[in-house]
Amino acid sequence: MTRSELTGWVEETLGEKRFRAEQIFRWLHDKRARSFDAMTNLSKALRVKLGDAARVGSLTLDEVKVAADGTRKLLLRTHAGHRIESVVIPMGDRVTLCVSSQVGCKIGCDFCLTGRMSVRQNLSAAEIVDQVYHAQENLTEQPLQLPNGETPASGRRVTNIVYMGMGEPLDNYDQVVRSLKNLLDDLGQNFSSRRITVSTSGIVPKIGQLGRDVPVNLAISLNASHDAQRDRLIPINRKWDIATLMKALREFPLAHRRRITVEYVLLDGVTDAPEDAVRLVRLLRGLRCKVNLIPFNPWPGAPYGRPTAEAVERFGATLRDAGYTVTIRYSKGDDIGAACGQLDGLAA
Ligand code: SF4
Repeated sequence: MTRSELTGWVEETLGEKRFRAEQIFRWLHDKRARSFDAMTNLSKALRVKLGDAARVGSLTLDEVKVAADGTRKLLLRTHAGHRIESVVIPMGDRVTLCVSSQVGCKIGCDFCLTGRMSVRQNLSAAEIVDQVYHAQENLTEQPLQLPNGETPASGRRVTNIVYMGMGEPLDNYDQVVRSLKNLLDDLGQNFSSRRITVSTSGIVPKIGQLGRDVPVNLAISLNASHDAQRDRLIPINRKWDIATLMKALREFPLAHRRRITVEYVLLDGVTDAPEDAVRLVRLLRGLRCKVNLIPFNPWPGAPYGRPTAEAVERFGATLRDAGYTVTIRYSKGDDIGAACGQLDGLAA
Protein backbone atom coordinates (compact mmCIF):
# COMPACT_ATOMS: atom_id res chain seq x y z
CA MET A 1 0.00 0.00 0.00
CA THR A 2 1.01 3.59 -0.51
CA ARG A 3 0.88 5.89 2.53
CA SER A 4 -2.56 7.22 1.59
CA GLU A 5 -3.88 3.67 1.02
CA LEU A 6 -2.43 2.61 4.35
CA THR A 7 -4.04 5.60 6.09
CA GLY A 8 -7.46 4.73 4.64
CA TRP A 9 -7.05 1.09 5.68
CA VAL A 10 -5.92 1.93 9.23
CA GLU A 11 -8.86 4.31 9.74
CA GLU A 12 -11.60 2.36 8.00
CA THR A 13 -10.67 -1.29 8.51
CA LEU A 14 -8.84 -1.14 11.83
CA GLY A 15 -10.77 1.82 13.27
CA GLU A 16 -7.52 3.44 14.45
CA LYS A 17 -6.39 7.08 14.36
CA ARG A 18 -4.56 8.31 11.25
CA PHE A 19 -1.28 9.00 13.11
CA ARG A 20 -1.00 5.23 13.61
CA ALA A 21 -0.71 4.87 9.84
CA GLU A 22 2.26 7.24 9.84
CA GLN A 23 3.91 5.25 12.62
CA ILE A 24 3.38 1.99 10.72
CA PHE A 25 4.58 3.54 7.46
CA ARG A 26 7.79 4.74 9.13
CA TRP A 27 8.40 1.30 10.58
CA LEU A 28 7.93 -0.35 7.20
CA HIS A 29 9.77 2.07 4.93
CA ASP A 30 12.19 4.07 7.08
CA LYS A 31 13.22 1.49 9.66
CA ARG A 32 12.54 -1.41 7.26
CA ALA A 33 10.77 -3.60 9.82
CA ARG A 34 9.81 -7.04 8.49
CA SER A 35 7.20 -7.90 11.12
CA PHE A 36 4.55 -6.10 13.13
CA ASP A 37 6.20 -7.41 16.32
CA ALA A 38 9.21 -5.20 15.61
CA MET A 39 7.02 -2.05 15.80
CA THR A 40 7.70 -1.43 19.46
CA ASN A 41 5.97 1.95 19.82
CA LEU A 42 2.62 0.34 18.94
CA SER A 43 0.63 -1.31 21.71
CA LYS A 44 0.76 -5.09 21.90
CA ALA A 45 -3.00 -5.16 21.20
CA LEU A 46 -2.57 -3.17 17.98
CA ARG A 47 0.31 -5.35 16.85
CA VAL A 48 -1.86 -8.44 17.30
CA LYS A 49 -4.70 -6.73 15.42
CA LEU A 50 -2.33 -5.89 12.56
CA GLY A 51 -0.99 -9.44 12.45
CA ASP A 52 -4.53 -10.84 12.22
CA ALA A 53 -5.49 -8.50 9.37
CA ALA A 54 -2.36 -8.19 7.25
CA ARG A 55 1.07 -9.48 6.37
CA VAL A 56 4.28 -7.51 5.91
CA GLY A 57 5.16 -8.44 2.34
CA SER A 58 8.80 -9.34 2.12
CA LEU A 59 11.40 -11.39 0.34
CA THR A 60 13.87 -13.93 1.66
CA LEU A 61 17.51 -13.39 0.79
CA ASP A 62 18.95 -16.72 -0.40
CA GLU A 63 22.39 -15.75 -1.59
CA VAL A 64 24.69 -12.84 -2.46
CA LYS A 65 27.23 -13.32 -5.25
CA VAL A 66 30.05 -10.83 -5.68
CA ALA A 67 31.74 -10.28 -9.07
CA ALA A 68 35.39 -9.41 -9.58
CA ASP A 69 34.40 -5.79 -10.42
CA GLY A 70 32.46 -5.41 -7.13
CA THR A 71 28.99 -5.89 -8.63
CA ARG A 72 26.75 -7.87 -6.29
CA LYS A 73 23.85 -10.08 -7.30
CA LEU A 74 21.19 -10.65 -4.64
CA LEU A 75 19.19 -13.83 -5.16
CA LEU A 76 15.85 -13.44 -3.43
CA ARG A 77 12.75 -15.60 -2.98
CA THR A 78 9.18 -14.31 -3.11
CA HIS A 79 6.36 -15.33 -0.76
CA ALA A 80 5.14 -17.70 -3.51
CA GLY A 81 8.60 -19.32 -3.70
CA HIS A 82 9.81 -17.80 -7.00
CA ARG A 83 13.42 -16.69 -7.33
CA ILE A 84 14.25 -13.20 -8.49
CA GLU A 85 17.40 -11.12 -8.72
CA SER A 86 18.54 -7.60 -7.92
CA VAL A 87 21.96 -6.26 -8.84
CA VAL A 88 24.04 -3.73 -6.87
CA ILE A 89 26.35 -1.88 -9.25
CA PRO A 90 29.12 0.37 -7.88
CA MET A 91 29.96 3.18 -10.32
CA GLY A 92 32.26 5.97 -9.10
CA ASP A 93 30.48 7.80 -6.29
CA ARG A 94 27.15 6.13 -7.10
CA VAL A 95 25.75 2.78 -6.05
CA THR A 96 22.99 1.82 -8.44
CA LEU A 97 20.50 -0.91 -7.66
CA CYS A 98 18.83 -2.66 -10.58
CA VAL A 99 15.48 -4.06 -9.39
CA SER A 100 13.17 -6.65 -10.90
CA SER A 101 9.48 -5.95 -11.41
CA GLN A 102 8.31 -9.41 -12.53
CA VAL A 103 9.31 -13.07 -12.33
CA GLY A 104 10.23 -13.80 -15.96
CA CYS A 105 8.90 -11.51 -18.68
CA LYS A 106 6.32 -11.98 -21.41
CA ILE A 107 7.85 -9.42 -23.81
CA GLY A 108 10.32 -12.06 -24.99
CA CYS A 109 13.12 -9.90 -26.42
CA ASP A 110 15.26 -12.21 -28.53
CA PHE A 111 18.55 -11.24 -26.86
CA CYS A 112 17.36 -11.55 -23.24
CA LEU A 113 17.54 -14.59 -20.97
CA THR A 114 14.76 -13.36 -18.65
CA GLY A 115 12.30 -13.48 -21.56
CA ARG A 116 12.97 -17.23 -21.92
CA MET A 117 11.99 -18.16 -18.36
CA SER A 118 8.92 -20.38 -18.13
CA VAL A 119 7.49 -18.75 -14.97
CA ARG A 120 5.80 -15.38 -15.42
CA GLN A 121 4.34 -13.48 -12.53
CA ASN A 122 3.98 -9.91 -11.38
CA LEU A 123 5.81 -8.84 -8.23
CA SER A 124 3.86 -6.92 -5.62
CA ALA A 125 4.91 -3.39 -4.68
CA ALA A 126 6.12 -4.86 -1.38
CA GLU A 127 8.36 -7.31 -3.22
CA ILE A 128 9.78 -4.52 -5.36
CA VAL A 129 10.60 -2.14 -2.48
CA ASP A 130 11.96 -4.99 -0.37
CA GLN A 131 14.68 -5.52 -2.99
CA VAL A 132 15.87 -2.01 -2.14
CA TYR A 133 15.69 -2.69 1.58
CA HIS A 134 17.66 -5.95 1.27
CA ALA A 135 20.32 -4.12 -0.75
CA GLN A 136 20.49 -1.32 1.87
CA GLU A 137 20.92 -3.93 4.60
CA ASN A 138 23.58 -5.78 2.65
CA LEU A 139 25.55 -2.57 2.12
CA THR A 140 25.25 -1.64 5.80
CA GLU A 141 26.58 -5.05 6.84
CA GLN A 142 29.25 -5.27 4.14
CA PRO A 143 30.09 -1.81 2.75
CA LEU A 144 31.63 -1.58 -0.69
CA GLN A 145 35.40 -1.31 -0.70
CA LEU A 146 37.82 0.42 -3.03
CA PRO A 147 40.81 -1.58 -4.29
CA ASN A 148 42.86 0.06 -1.50
CA GLY A 149 40.50 -1.41 1.11
CA GLU A 150 38.81 1.89 2.01
CA THR A 151 35.06 2.36 2.00
CA PRO A 152 33.91 5.32 -0.13
CA ALA A 153 31.37 7.76 1.36
CA SER A 154 28.63 6.27 -0.80
CA GLY A 155 29.65 2.67 -0.16
CA ARG A 156 27.07 2.03 2.54
CA ARG A 157 23.83 2.76 0.74
CA VAL A 158 21.98 2.61 -2.55
CA THR A 159 22.10 6.04 -4.21
CA ASN A 160 20.24 5.30 -7.48
CA ILE A 161 17.56 2.82 -8.51
CA VAL A 162 16.87 1.54 -12.01
CA TYR A 163 13.89 -0.62 -12.92
CA MET A 164 15.86 -2.64 -15.45
CA GLY A 165 16.05 -6.09 -13.86
CA MET A 166 13.75 -9.01 -14.61
CA GLY A 167 10.45 -8.01 -16.20
CA GLU A 168 8.80 -5.16 -18.07
CA PRO A 169 7.85 -2.57 -15.42
CA LEU A 170 4.97 -1.07 -17.41
CA ASP A 171 3.43 -4.53 -17.80
CA ASN A 172 3.02 -4.50 -13.98
CA TYR A 173 2.00 -0.86 -13.88
CA ASP A 174 -0.06 -0.53 -10.69
CA GLN A 175 2.42 -2.35 -8.45
CA VAL A 176 5.38 -0.52 -9.97
CA VAL A 177 3.76 2.89 -9.40
CA ARG A 178 2.90 1.93 -5.81
CA SER A 179 6.50 0.88 -5.22
CA LEU A 180 7.75 4.19 -6.66
CA LYS A 181 5.43 6.23 -4.44
CA ASN A 182 6.72 4.34 -1.40
CA LEU A 183 10.37 4.84 -2.32
CA LEU A 184 9.83 8.56 -2.96
CA ASP A 185 7.81 9.13 0.25
CA ASP A 186 9.55 11.50 2.66
CA LEU A 187 8.48 9.40 5.66
CA GLY A 188 10.21 6.40 4.10
CA GLN A 189 13.46 6.19 2.12
CA ASN A 190 12.82 9.65 0.65
CA PHE A 191 14.61 8.96 -2.64
CA SER A 192 14.88 11.87 -5.05
CA SER A 193 12.83 11.30 -8.21
CA ARG A 194 15.96 12.30 -10.15
CA ARG A 195 17.66 9.18 -8.88
CA ILE A 196 15.08 6.65 -10.01
CA THR A 197 14.72 5.47 -13.61
CA VAL A 198 12.04 3.22 -15.05
CA SER A 199 12.95 1.44 -18.26
CA THR A 200 10.42 0.12 -20.77
CA SER A 201 10.57 -1.89 -23.97
CA GLY A 202 7.78 0.35 -25.29
CA ILE A 203 4.33 -0.25 -23.75
CA VAL A 204 3.15 2.93 -25.44
CA PRO A 205 -0.20 3.57 -23.65
CA LYS A 206 1.53 3.50 -20.26
CA ILE A 207 4.43 5.81 -21.07
CA GLY A 208 2.58 9.12 -20.77
CA GLN A 209 0.60 7.81 -17.80
CA LEU A 210 3.81 7.06 -15.92
CA GLY A 211 5.06 10.60 -16.52
CA ARG A 212 1.83 12.02 -15.10
CA ASP A 213 1.64 9.63 -12.11
CA VAL A 214 5.23 9.80 -10.80
CA PRO A 215 7.97 12.23 -11.86
CA VAL A 216 10.75 9.63 -12.28
CA ASN A 217 13.23 9.34 -15.15
CA LEU A 218 12.31 7.33 -18.22
CA ALA A 219 14.53 5.00 -20.21
CA ILE A 220 13.49 3.33 -23.43
CA SER A 221 15.00 0.07 -24.68
CA LEU A 222 15.07 0.98 -28.37
CA ASN A 223 17.73 -1.48 -29.58
CA ALA A 224 16.97 -1.14 -33.28
CA SER A 225 17.01 1.53 -35.96
CA HIS A 226 14.13 0.34 -38.16
CA ASP A 227 10.89 -1.61 -37.77
CA ALA A 228 11.85 -4.89 -39.47
CA GLN A 229 14.85 -5.15 -37.16
CA ARG A 230 12.89 -4.19 -34.04
CA ASP A 231 9.97 -6.52 -34.91
CA ARG A 232 12.42 -9.39 -34.80
CA LEU A 233 14.25 -8.36 -31.63
CA ILE A 234 11.37 -6.97 -29.54
CA PRO A 235 8.07 -8.55 -30.61
CA ILE A 236 6.03 -5.79 -28.93
CA ASN A 237 7.15 -3.55 -31.82
CA ARG A 238 4.59 -5.32 -34.02
CA LYS A 239 1.90 -3.78 -31.82
CA TRP A 240 3.45 -0.34 -31.30
CA ASP A 241 5.94 0.42 -34.04
CA ILE A 242 8.89 2.82 -33.84
CA ALA A 243 6.94 5.84 -35.15
CA THR A 244 4.20 5.32 -32.53
CA LEU A 245 6.81 4.87 -29.83
CA MET A 246 8.77 7.99 -30.83
CA LYS A 247 5.55 10.03 -30.75
CA ALA A 248 4.87 8.83 -27.17
CA LEU A 249 8.43 9.74 -26.16
CA ARG A 250 8.14 13.23 -27.67
CA GLU A 251 4.92 13.76 -25.70
CA PHE A 252 6.35 12.43 -22.42
CA PRO A 253 6.03 15.15 -19.72
CA LEU A 254 9.76 15.63 -19.12
CA ALA A 255 10.71 17.69 -16.09
CA HIS A 256 12.99 20.73 -16.54
CA ARG A 257 16.58 19.78 -17.46
CA ARG A 258 15.85 16.08 -17.67
CA ARG A 259 16.41 13.82 -20.62
CA ILE A 260 15.07 10.45 -21.67
CA THR A 261 17.68 7.70 -21.73
CA VAL A 262 17.69 5.76 -24.98
CA GLU A 263 19.18 2.30 -24.55
CA TYR A 264 20.58 0.54 -27.55
CA VAL A 265 22.02 -2.98 -27.35
CA LEU A 266 24.76 -3.49 -29.89
CA LEU A 267 24.55 -7.00 -31.34
CA ASP A 268 27.45 -8.07 -33.51
CA GLY A 269 26.52 -7.85 -37.18
CA VAL A 270 22.85 -7.18 -36.37
CA THR A 271 22.38 -3.71 -34.86
CA ASP A 272 25.91 -2.29 -34.90
CA ALA A 273 26.31 -1.24 -38.57
CA PRO A 274 27.28 2.34 -39.45
CA GLU A 275 23.91 2.70 -41.27
CA ASP A 276 22.11 1.81 -38.01
CA ALA A 277 23.89 4.68 -36.26
CA VAL A 278 22.87 7.10 -39.04
CA ARG A 279 19.23 5.93 -38.88
CA LEU A 280 19.28 6.26 -35.07
CA VAL A 281 20.48 9.85 -35.32
CA ARG A 282 17.54 10.57 -37.64
CA LEU A 283 15.04 8.86 -35.34
CA LEU A 284 16.14 10.79 -32.27
CA ARG A 285 16.09 14.21 -33.89
CA GLY A 286 14.27 16.70 -31.66
CA LEU A 287 14.04 14.34 -28.66
CA ARG A 288 15.65 15.52 -25.39
CA CYS A 289 17.69 12.41 -24.75
CA LYS A 290 21.01 10.81 -24.04
CA VAL A 291 22.08 7.48 -25.47
CA ASN A 292 23.33 4.48 -23.58
CA LEU A 293 25.06 1.96 -25.82
CA ILE A 294 25.21 -1.56 -24.38
CA PRO A 295 27.62 -3.96 -26.08
CA PHE A 296 25.82 -7.32 -25.87
CA ASN A 297 26.82 -9.68 -23.04
CA PRO A 298 26.42 -13.18 -24.48
CA TRP A 299 24.94 -15.90 -22.29
CA PRO A 300 25.41 -19.65 -23.03
CA GLY A 301 23.41 -20.49 -26.15
CA ALA A 302 22.72 -16.84 -27.00
CA PRO A 303 21.89 -16.33 -30.68
CA TYR A 304 23.97 -13.11 -30.84
CA GLY A 305 27.58 -12.15 -30.28
CA ARG A 306 29.48 -9.31 -28.66
CA PRO A 307 30.28 -6.46 -31.07
CA THR A 308 33.87 -5.57 -31.81
CA ALA A 309 35.42 -2.64 -29.92
CA GLU A 310 35.82 -0.80 -33.26
CA ALA A 311 32.11 -1.17 -34.08
CA VAL A 312 31.17 0.17 -30.65
CA GLU A 313 33.52 3.15 -30.92
CA ARG A 314 32.39 3.95 -34.46
CA PHE A 315 28.71 3.76 -33.49
CA GLY A 316 29.27 6.04 -30.50
CA ALA A 317 31.27 8.53 -32.58
CA THR A 318 28.44 8.91 -35.12
CA LEU A 319 26.00 9.77 -32.34
CA ARG A 320 28.43 12.14 -30.61
CA ASP A 321 29.17 13.91 -33.88
CA ALA A 322 25.42 14.51 -34.20
CA GLY A 323 25.45 16.23 -30.78
CA TYR A 324 24.18 13.45 -28.49
CA THR A 325 25.64 12.58 -25.10
CA VAL A 326 26.66 8.95 -25.36
CA THR A 327 27.73 6.55 -22.66
CA ILE A 328 28.97 3.08 -23.40
CA ARG A 329 27.87 0.65 -20.71
CA TYR A 330 30.44 -2.07 -20.66
CA SER A 331 29.27 -5.15 -18.86
CA LYS A 332 29.38 -5.25 -15.10
CA GLY A 333 29.13 -8.48 -13.19
CA ASP A 334 29.02 -10.77 -16.22
CA ASP A 335 31.17 -13.36 -14.39
CA ILE A 336 28.23 -13.94 -11.98
CA GLY A 337 25.44 -13.68 -14.61
CA ALA A 338 24.44 -10.24 -13.33
CA ALA A 339 24.89 -8.23 -16.53
CA CYS A 340 22.11 -6.80 -18.69
CA GLY A 341 19.90 -9.49 -20.17
CA GLN A 342 21.53 -12.24 -18.09
CA LEU A 343 19.05 -12.43 -15.20
CA ASP A 344 17.18 -15.71 -14.91
CA GLY A 345 16.71 -16.23 -11.15
CA LEU A 346 19.43 -18.85 -11.00
CA ALA A 347 22.82 -18.63 -9.33
CA ALA A 348 25.45 -18.37 -12.06
S1 SF4 B 1 14.86 -7.13 -22.17
FE1 SF4 B 1 13.42 -6.49 -20.56
S2 SF4 B 1 11.43 -6.41 -21.64
FE2 SF4 B 1 12.80 -7.62 -22.95
S3 SF4 B 1 12.43 -9.78 -22.34
FE3 SF4 B 1 14.18 -9.01 -21.13
S4 SF4 B 1 13.26 -8.32 -19.20
FE4 SF4 B 1 11.58 -8.45 -20.73
